[in-house]
Amino acid sequence: MRTTALSKVYPNGTRAVSNVSLTIAPNEFVSIIGSSGAGKSSLLRCINRLIRPTSGTLELFGTDITAVSGKQIRQVRQKVGMIFQQFHLVRRLTVLENVLVGRLRFNSSFYSHCCSIIRHFSKDEKEAAFECLQQVGIAHLAFQRADTLSGGQQQRVAIARALAQEPEIFLADEPIASLDPHSAEVVMDTLMEIHETRNIPVLVNLHHIDFATRYGKRIVGMRHGEVIHDVSPSALTDEM
Ligand code: ADP
Ligand code: ADP
Repeated sequence: MRTTALSKVYPNGTRAVSNVSLTIAPNEFVSIIGSSGAGKSSLLRCINRLIRPTSGTLELFGTDITAVSGKQIRQVRQKVGMIFQQFHLVRRLTVLENVLVGRLRFNSSFYSHCCSIIRHFSKDEKEAAFECLQQVGIAHLAFQRADTLSGGQQQRVAIARALAQEPEIFLADEPIASLDPHSAEVVMDTLMEIHETRNIPVLVNLHHIDFATRYGKRIVGMRHGEVIHDVSPSALTDEM
């Protein structure tokens, strides 16, 4: 992934991302740190085209996706796995069904009225979803309702749902901000394992520097929309 002078200015004039030029190789696990409002979330949202960058270029899988629209945006999103601080699961569906939702073309809120969706899927699709749950360590919870799980378990369901898309890059926007320290560690370990076993780049937005230095092989610091650091964890520790 490569951005060149990428900027995002919201309609109200807020310059959330300012001239960001970053190249991220497939073998990188990158932590993006910065205080609230620094532009971390806006940067990730540009990468999966939840929002459209205002200027600059954003190259993903060899294509400039800055200006793509319609069907092409859906193709981009398919290749980009993303999780958020909030897990956005469908509460009434089971864990396995929530993972299957990741393979569908509708937004998960479309399914919030459904009691069960499992009959719409083939045996192969169910097995693939089950494998994603195995990879995040919660296959034993497959048939429980999503809203009976702890926060850390729900975040792992969200990770499995993103994995079901077979993403080529994984983005996590404050994935541990609402979790207790132990669950936070389990979720970060899960992201690291995905990075290593699937060999895909992972970008994680984090509030706190301690997790960034423990997990990131590269730390990008943002302030007022700009990249102000781009270093290895040891360099950051030396600076402090
Ligand atoms: P972070 O993820 O680092 O907290 P954000 O990307 O959420 O930062 O926000 C960067 C800046 O953009 C903040 O000033 C925020 O208030 C602003 N912002 C975020 N989303 C919008 C929006 N949809 N419209 C206007 N301003 C926004
Ligand atoms: P999240 O945890 O999903 O990042 P936020 O509270 O940062 O939640 O943002 C929720 C929504 O509000 C996002 O779509 C974001 O773009 C938008 N938003 C954030 N800050 C502003 C702002 N200053 N003005 C308008 N919209 C904003």
